[in-house]
Amino acid sequence: MDPGAETRKTPPTKGHRMSQQSLTVIGLGPMGQAMVKALIEAGIEVTVWNRTAAKAEAMAELGAHRAETAAEALDANRVIILSLTHYQAMYDILGPAADHLRGKVIANLSSDSPENTREGAAWATEHGAQYLVGGFMSQGDDIKHPDSYLYLSGPKDVFEAHRDLLRPLSRQEYLGDDYGLAQVFYQAELALFHAFLIGWEQALAIVDRSGADLDRFVAGASGHPNSYRDFMREFAEGAKHGGWGDLHSFKMMHAGAQHVIDASEDLGVDARLTRTVQDYYRRAIEATDKAGHPVPVYRIIRGDAA
Ligand code: NDP
Repeated sequence: MDPGAETRKTPPTKGHRMSQQSLTVIGLGPMGQAMVKALIEAGIEVTVWNRTAAKAEAMAELGAHRAETAAEALDANRVIILSLTHYQAMYDILGPAADHLRGKVIANLSSDSPENTREGAAWATEHGAQYLVGGFMSQGDDIKHPDSYLYLSGPKDVFEAHRDLLRPLSRQEYLGDDYGLAQVFYQAELALFHAFLIGWEQALAIVDRSGADLDRFVAGASGHPNSYRDFMREFAEGAKHGGWGDLHSFKMMHAGAQHVIDASEDLGVDARLTRTVQDYYRRAIEATDKAGHPVPVYRIIRGDAA
């Protein structure tokens, strides 16, 4: 029996599965651990390896096999999931074991830039592996949350051949052959998410510091997310034509940002995010004055109005 086979035959005894799927997970931070649990729950046999051994031991207690070395983890299965802080960790771990990569399928679900992702794919495929890239748009490490999903890209045949094995991880959004595309979408969503989270914390701090009822505010503010969806779609349409806005709207937004800054700073709340926002509108006003026609913030952000 080939221990590296992705579908293992086990004896058809009562209580045993006719066939057992298996894969390896390297990297056991919160995401790697969540994946191991979801895979084991789905009846998949999982081998794990992690730089800090204690995390692998904890997974072994849940039923995972623990490899002693990264090379052993590669040898254990044909399909290898990487869940690491960044792509450098892949080179640190797999570099010394690179002669074990031939014939493997590496699904790197770690975050990094699209360019680093494409370079990583080239590195792995030069060593004889097939490669898939993933970006987890999960609700934190709750990959089983109904709103969690996984962007994937890489060769379609590789995706098609392994989509069922990877299905327990999250809903899949396959984007296409370009290895970098999953990270383009993932990092773009994170750009929004980061600004949203800091903006939300500023909003909470304003209400909290004012002495108003935080729960009452949250109940109202979190009750109408659809209005953001409409802005997203309208601005996306605008982006296709160079962005939204005219001089009046830029001045209105600039003045509005000042009110948020005042409301924040009067209460001792940090308003640096809003100062950054206001600076975009200041630049749009100046660029518009200079050009003699509207220069939307989108053009400044896109790098068209340097
Ligand atoms: P962590 O940063 O907690 O760690 C992931 C793993 O990377 C750990 O096992 C760590 O090993 C390992 N690692 C880091 N650097 C090295 C190195 N140089 N050599 C060997 N191993 C290394 O990540 P998460 O589990 O939180 O996330 C994994 C990926 O998923 C990241 O890219 C993250 O951006 C992304 N992500 C995370 C989400 C979350 O909510 N946590 C949500 C969506 C995506 P050790 O245990 O030894 O430190």
